[in-house]
Amino acid sequence: MKYCKKCLQPDTRPNEKFINGVCSICRYYDSIEDIDWNSRYEQLQDYLKNRKKKSVKNSFQKFDCIIGVSGGKDSTRQALWVRDKLKLNPLLWSLSYPPEQICDIGTKNISNLINLGFDLVVSSPSPKTWRNLIKESFFKFSNHMRTSELALFSSVPQAALAYKIPIIFWGETPMQVGDLSAVGEEGWDGNNMKNSNTLSSGHKWMIDMGYKREKLIPYIYPDKNQFELQDLQIIYLGWYLGDWSLTNNAKYSNLNGLINRSEDYVNTGDIHGTSALDDNWQIMNQMIKYYKFGFGFVTEIICEDIQRGHIDRKSGIKWIEKYDGKCSDEYIKSFCKYIDISVDEFWWQVRKSANRDLFLVKNDGQIVPKFKVGEDL
Ligand SMILES: [Zn+2]
Repeated sequence: MKYCKKCLQPDTRPNEKFINGVCSICRYYDSIEDIDWNSRYEQLQDYLKNRKKKSVKNSFQKFDCIIGVSGGKDSTRQALWVRDKLKLNPLLWSLSYPPEQICDIGTKNISNLINLGFDLVVSSPSPKTWRNLIKESFFKFSNHMRTSELALFSSVPQAALAYKIPIIFWGETPMQVGDLSAVGEEGWDGNNMKNSNTLSSGHKWMIDMGYKREKLIPYIYPDKNQFELQDLQIIYLGWYLGDWSLTNNAKYSNLNGLINRSEDYVNTGDIHGTSALDDNWQIMNQMIKYYKFGFGFVTEIICEDIQRGHIDRKSGIKWIEKYDGKCSDEYIKSFCKYIDISVDEFWWQVRKSANRDLFLVKNDGQIVPKFKVGEDL
């Protein structure tokens, strides 16, 4: 495992490619240093004006655009910016988790968006299928979120097509999250999202479980032809917002009613308390990711803080060493209860998937890193 020379990104991140020892995200931030953000904003305005002219014929069309929301920091900021700055009329779409999964803060933050005056649709895939798929994806990929991510990503274009809404606004660009496979024809173009690390694996494994396609509709991302038929365009707002970042989005959204987590960092592995506000099992998944790839939530936060000049590399190492990959036992227990397995079975699977090049799995079950944060292995 090699670390980026500038931040603390490891090269074990899927679809990452270092050039001269520098990660793709640092290269992206270097490349935007001299951007004229006002002129980018004007380009967006021009694009929207032209699109609006083209769309006028459709009398059923009420909404200018659609935004997928969890009620968290990024989606709250997107919704407010699109409505108040771009003066568009967005439909917000929230794919809801089952009651066993969604956190109390998550429901409050969705209510906050409704209280801010937005039109918001909540959709829920069949809870029985959801539970079976979550269990299968945990044991098959050591990543139960393959299920929820497919549904989250697919629900928004599905809704846009059904409601004949021409534009989807998405948050960060693939360059900002280091997923080069999803980069579009231009930086703002999100129509290549289907190739992202999250979506490219598709839903075939669900079919292999014996499910018929009609039971899997919420998990199937619309194909290229459907996008083209309705001239549906995904636009990354991260391309137009020069100050887009986890920290800034949280500050902006907190001022507009967003509630953060208040738990100790050792329970959440999130030193800002602003991520995965609606779902504790995402924290658990970040812990598993840590054992698979050698990095978790804290590495992502610290890297962005370094790239944004909020912290130096040396101080960042201390935060990562102390809190990366942490997760409360309570979250693990609630997940095990949900998919009806024992905590021992859970850890058996996690140990099985731990990267043996990066970690030593001891006889007593402890998983110990072989690497030192910031030093190549
Ligand atoms: Zn970097």
